[in-house]
Amino acid sequence: MNSIICKFCNNDANNKTLEEFDRFGMSIYFCSACKAEYITYKSGKLASTSLYSELNSKLYRVSFNSHGLWLWYVGVPGIPGIPGVSKNKEMKLLKSFNDEIVVDINLNNINDKIKYWLLFI
Ligand SMILES: [Zn+2]
Repeated sequence: MNSIICKFCNNDANNKTLEEFDRFGMSIYFCSACKAEYITYKSGKLASTSLYSELNSKLYRVSFNSHGLWLWYVGVPGIPGIPGVSKNKEMKLLKSFNDEIVVDINLNNINDKIKYWLLFI
């Protein structure tokens, strides 16, 4: 597939699969307007959704699926991967919620959520 529909803006998220992910049977779609990343299995089934957000000059990634939610520190801007070109090189898992959760993350509340989670780290 060349693209899937971004669930945050309903526009196309384009296929930015890197060869190293393709080898593992995964595809990556990225919506640059939302900084939303979708990782799917080859079947098209969604494995996880991630939103990237910058807060105090630091870049974070919030990833989630029906099994949990994970907050990652991606590193200072410049180090993160480039969709379709290179993967993230420096990522540190800051917090994880490994329960069945109700995911209520969107472009409007993501920074407030990150700020809140950072209080407990
Ligand atoms: Zn979008």
